[in-house]
Amino acid sequence: MRELLDCDLIIFDCDGVLVDTEPMTTRLIAESVSHFGWAVDQAFAIETFKGKDMKEIVAMVGDHLGRAVPELTEHYRARMYAELEGGGAEPIPGAVELLDALDALTGGPKRCVASNGPRRKMQASLLSSGIADRFGGMESPTIFSAYDIEKWKPDPALFLHACAQMGATPDRCVVFEDSESGIEAAVRAGMRSVGVGGLTPTAKLSAKGATITVETLHELLPLGV
Ligand SMILES: [Mg+2]
Repeated sequence: MRELLDCDLIIFDCDGVLVDTEPMTTRLIAESVSHFGWAVDQAFAIETFKGKDMKEIVAMVGDHLGRAVPELTEHYRARMYAELEGGGAEPIPGAVELLDALDALTGGPKRCVASNGPRRKMQASLLSSGIADRFGGMESPTIFSAYDIEKWKPDPALFLHACAQMGATPDRCVVFEDSESGIEAAVRAGMRSVGVGGLTPTAKLSAKGATITVETLHELLPLGV
């Protein structure tokens, strides 16, 4: 981690890195895809759909079923917002401690959040987990949604956009990601990355080109060791 701290900007993915929403969202995706006629379980949804944007998922399900299913997005999102805005999203273990440690650094890197999710979903998960305040609240210019620029990871555009807005250069950025598509986006953006284990095994994140991987964020603490 010592070499990784030699950077100007840390870009955090939201779900699975800061907020523990993915067990819920992958369960709901499996339920919605099944509702439209492709019977899948949560394990399959994690393997197949994790880190993909809804347009891609809708296209994949449409291909599988042989008919378009544009209603899938609304079916999923209505259930997802109901659960998320009902509260209960928790920070990822170690996330608050890591943010505390970064705060305590003198002249440490700036930080921001960049997610494939819509702003409303970022808002619900960052607010209900208490993480939003750590980035200056939801109106903060350090929170970036792929929907703002209509380009989604693994396209590197979101990370490059966040980097430019934050006044950094790609070679001085470190990305924290828990999905293969996020690591791929970081590699394509020319950025170093920390692959955070969770629903996707760290071996897969390494295979995509993560600079280092950790099973949990606690492994990075204390910083600089
Ligand atoms: Mg993620």
